[in-house]
Amino acid sequence: MSSLEVYINGSFYPKQEAKISVYDHGLLYGDGVFEGMRAYGGRIFRLQQHLDRLYESARAILLEIPMGSQDLADAVLETLRRNQLQDAYIRLVVTRGAGTLGLDPDRTSDPQIIIIADKISLYPDEYYQNGLEIVTASTIRNHPAALSPRIKSLNYLNNIMAKIEGKLAGCAEALMLNHKGEVAECTGDNIFIVRRGRLLTPPIDAGILEGITRNAVIELASSEGISVQELSFTRHDIFVAEECFLTGSAAEVIPVIKLDRRPIGNGQVGPITKQLIQAFHGLVRSEA
Ligand code: PMP
Repeated sequence: MSSLEVYINGSFYPKQEAKISVYDHGLLYGDGVFEGMRAYGGRIFRLQQHLDRLYESARAILLEIPMGSQDLADAVLETLRRNQLQDAYIRLVVTRGAGTLGLDPDRTSDPQIIIIADKISLYPDEYYQNGLEIVTASTIRNHPAALSPRIKSLNYLNNIMAKIEGKLAGCAEALMLNHKGEVAECTGDNIFIVRRGRLLTPPIDAGILEGITRNAVIELASSEGISVQELSFTRHDIFVAEECFLTGSAAEVIPVIKLDRRPIGNGQVGPITKQLIQAFHGLVRSEA
């Protein structure tokens, strides 16, 4: 198979030759923004929503993306086509650009627009069938007054610290609480529980990323006749919940069967989770 080609600022480079400056503030300071999306059958699921979120993240850090949304959409689709990918994961990155050493973003030039289209397998199939075990990280999610979790920035150390805790405890994901001790989200996924037959997920002001998969699942639940509410909750509510699952572009919808070694519900993947996983697969295929 020929090597993957990566888009950088309007040109395509073989994977091994796709490089940017070591003076780029994206590398030096995590100064930049990104999106992770999936393509199904050659079409990108909710591309416009991903682009809207990217431009909002960029605006929040006063980074001007040197390309309009339509041109960027075309570049993403072209990257997919060039790599002859139908079902893929796409990583779109915009860095602050190369500059002098020192934080000042005004002393940089040429933000780099990078698009990688590749395969991703976040979790083994077994977890989708039998569910995932997660633990609560003691690293809390970024305080919204420090760095808003709504910004999908290149600075993911907050989540990486929690991910490390999860891995050291033998789990592939970790639950993050917010500064008030409420459930926020996992390191790269949003969280839902089923409690007394209703679907609950933390609201945006719990300090989370407004996940595009999360929003799709909220819509799906409504159309499937499942009551759904955005409501703050604590670990207690997960311990007494019937079901739990996570959502994300890379993870899609994945069941969770244990938190902190305690079974959730009967410790098996629940019926509402199964129904929503199936509905989600139907949705992504229908939009493709
Ligand atoms: N929360 C965090 C912290 C994330 O990084 C992500 C994306 N990987 C999500 C939630 C899920 O968002 P989306 O459904 O838009 O991929």
